[in-house]
Amino acid sequence: MKQAIIKHIQKNGPLKLADYMAMCLYDPQHGYYMNKTPFGQEGDFITAPELTPLFGEMLGLWVADTWQNMGAPTAFNLVELGPGRGVLCADMLRAIQKAAPACLKACQVHLVEVSPHLIALQKQTLKNAPCSVMWHTDIQAIRNAAPSVVVGNELLDALPVNQYEQTDGKHYYERLVNTDGQNLFFTHATAPTTNLPKQQTPIIEHSPDLDSLLNTLKTHIQQGAVLLLDYGTTKAPEGTGETLQAIRNHQHEGIFAAPGQADLTWHINFTNVFGKMGADHCMVTDMALFLSEIGLPLRAEQAHRAAKTNAAKKHIEQTTHRLLDPNQMGQHFKVLGWKSHKDLHLSGFMHYINKIN
Ligand code: SAH
Repeated sequence: MKQAIIKHIQKNGPLKLADYMAMCLYDPQHGYYMNKTPFGQEGDFITAPELTPLFGEMLGLWVADTWQNMGAPTAFNLVELGPGRGVLCADMLRAIQKAAPACLKACQVHLVEVSPHLIALQKQTLKNAPCSVMWHTDIQAIRNAAPSVVVGNELLDALPVNQYEQTDGKHYYERLVNTDGQNLFFTHATAPTTNLPKQQTPIIEHSPDLDSLLNTLKTHIQQGAVLLLDYGTTKAPEGTGETLQAIRNHQHEGIFAAPGQADLTWHINFTNVFGKMGADHCMVTDMALFLSEIGLPLRAEQAHRAAKTNAAKKHIEQTTHRLLDPNQMGQHFKVLGWKSHKDLHLSGFMHYINKIN
């Protein structure tokens, strides 16, 4: 992959960072998500659904609750964006089947995924799904009139991002990926970039793909709700600065160290997302507050009582702590709820952050 990128730059000139990231993650031949199974203990990082089935079960109950709040339509789309191995979807469906069979009956599942390798894994995980599942590479391919409930966990931070650096204390110059034939490193565009989001940090991150996804969600979902969960912050009206990082084998490394072999992610500035999705249709809260409000601690207690071995009990304790502890995922992870209609109630946002702080 590194050689291919070096050749590409030698032929076409320095790469925008988002293009570098897109090649590293989604190149059909060598891209990270196209070949590897990045999640889980043996992978490079663990996501919440891979940590414990309780996470997906609780999101499944949230979906059923939202369906109920929408007036229990006889048909609705349950859409998952970037479903990884399909574990979250399987856990959600199991909980919906058990707790809300009428909701399951109304449910048509749509998985939106760009990686054929991961689609194959998702098909395997969901081979006994209790309802039919359809795959798409773009949410806009879902073209029916039914309302939608959309869920996405750790999707936003996998979208390619550009960086702009204030090198002369005044203007922002785009950071470009360049090469000397052996190594990859940053250079800067010669002309400054204007019309960037107003931020005060020396480095600004901006993802055109994130903007276009948010725009698509807002315009495509005529009726329904969206739940996006991701690493990020709400306390950054001044900007988040440089957050792009590479993770391989649960360790951080430089973003040019092993293109295609490491995951590249960045931290979402939810203050920006909030603004783009329309403040009066949008709520953002900490993951711990969201999961507590929708009942995860109670469900964990119940599972703990039912667990047959000490190892199983310990696993429930540890994973619940990891999800809820403010120093772990509890506060570093944010949950964004968006609704097409202001009067639709979405559970989990009693303590939502409704102003930029
Ligand atoms: N939600 C999963 C996986 C998160 S990793 C979990 O929590 O375990 C990011 C996922 O998003 C991968 O499945 C990746 O292939 C997918 N993805 C990245 N860009 C996408 C896009 N534009 N549309 C749909 N899926 C995308």
